[in-house]
Amino acid sequence: MFSIGSFRRPLLRFTVLRLHSTSSSFSSSSCSAAAIHAERTIREGSRNDWTRDEIKSVYVSPVLDLLFHGAQVHRHAHNFREVQQCTLLSIKTGGCSEDCSYCPQSSRYNTGLKAQRLMTKDAVLQAAKRAKDAGSTRFCMGAAWRDTVGRKTNFNQILEYVKEIRDMGMEVCCTLGMLEKQQAIELKKAGLTAYNHNLDTSREYYPNVITTRSYDERLETLQFVRDAGINVCCGGIIGLGEAEEDRVGLLHTLATLPTHPESVPINALVAVKGTPLQDHKPVEIWEMIRMIATARIVMPKAMVRLSAGRVRFSMPEQALCFLAGANSIFTGEKLLTTPNNDFDADQHMFKVLGLIAKAPSFEDGLASIDDSEACQEAISGSG
Ligand code: SF4
Repeated sequence: MFSIGSFRRPLLRFTVLRLHSTSSSFSSSSCSAAAIHAERTIREGSRNDWTRDEIKSVYVSPVLDLLFHGAQVHRHAHNFREVQQCTLLSIKTGGCSEDCSYCPQSSRYNTGLKAQRLMTKDAVLQAAKRAKDAGSTRFCMGAAWRDTVGRKTNFNQILEYVKEIRDMGMEVCCTLGMLEKQQAIELKKAGLTAYNHNLDTSREYYPNVITTRSYDERLETLQFVRDAGINVCCGGIIGLGEAEEDRVGLLHTLATLPTHPESVPINALVAVKGTPLQDHKPVEIWEMIRMIATARIVMPKAMVRLSAGRVRFSMPEQALCFLAGANSIFTGEKLLTTPNNDFDADQHMFKVLGLIAKAPSFEDGLASIDDSEACQEAISGSG
């Protein structure tokens, strides 16, 4: 049996040696911004004062070096074998008033998706039980709404679902659009673990993707969630037509929030016929690796989730994502309305790669834990 600690010492020493090497050919080819910032993250723990230029320098580092240093930070902050399994269920599908240009659930696009009402309690609880039996520890419920304002009956039903699923011993997450302050407080009281509200892309590129709600409205919902003591789950999508600068911009916004999100989903666009982005070409695995490893280095404690688009990646490609720092996936047949990886294939992948399921955590205020101590312990244990 080995421990994470057994890996820390040689890896860190290697980093330090590389950073101080005077061999010109060796140091000039290996002392990348990814190496420098990963070493600082390991030494100092989480920071919220990242500059955009710093994050950009990490993002554009040679990809294998970036991957390597993402892996180092990952091993210092997490048990690298543990992968969280979350199941995302669409509890209210389609008919959404918003115009998110990637989304088949918007009523503005003709994607052939049939709108459905809020699922009944029995149906939701059965789905949660199936997910739990299949090894999932977090159950996420998604509703295709702009917000929950004026949906008192539905909102109260969802509070019931949250309580019941929490009582089943699962972490519970919701993604219901924009929230008001009071609604976040009520979700917290019901036992909600996390609330997902993605920023999608950079502030600059955002108006090209969505026009019906602003970046600042999204940030306000995140603030209500954080203030209520619920963990924030917030990430984005790549492949929307954005530039690398926009990917950096997204990571910069996330990494400079008052508290890093507890979870950072990294999605690759699944181009759905009938949406404005239907002809966008799929992102390459190297783009995912850059996003994941950079997110890992700049937000070391976050659960970095390999999310939508995973279905297109082979097992070796997914293995590189786990190596770079991803430690969470969505399991189950569907991701809201788009296809997801086969359950048996995921079980097989866990076995082949030696991954283990992460147990649920019910610590309140998880996102506000100061992680510098843990990282400091890792570095002081290396000398
Ligand atoms: S992403 Fe959410 S808010 Fe946007 S159209 Fe789809 S369901 Fe509506």
